[in-house]
Amino acid sequence: MHREQLINNFQLGALLTGLDRKFFCFITKNNIYCSHCKNFAVNGIHVDKAYLTKMNDVRIFGRCKVCNSEVVRLFEFGNIKEFHEKANKLRESIKEQTLLEV
Ligand SMILES: [Zn+2]
Repeated sequence: MHREQLINNFQLGALLTGLDRKFFCFITKNNIYCSHCKNFAVNGIHVDKAYLTKMNDVRIFGRCKVCNSEVVRLFEFGNIKEFHEKANKLRESIKEQTLLEV
């Protein structure tokens, strides 16, 4: 089992390719529910933080562009084999970087 890993925008961008990226962009622009607006965030959201979960899904914390309220969304990418493998490679490279910094 992996641990939850904070990833930056660059790392998130490298993970999201092809259809996964299209899906991610579509959802963040159109389909994230804002509990303050009591509607989907019609102007999309700002992504503040992204995590790789233990299952290699992507959890994002962001803010609604209309009202600035916090929104959270889980993308179940971990069950896509290619994504899962890319995520594991990213984990490895993060681990190596961390070792170098010590
Ligand atoms: Zn809102």
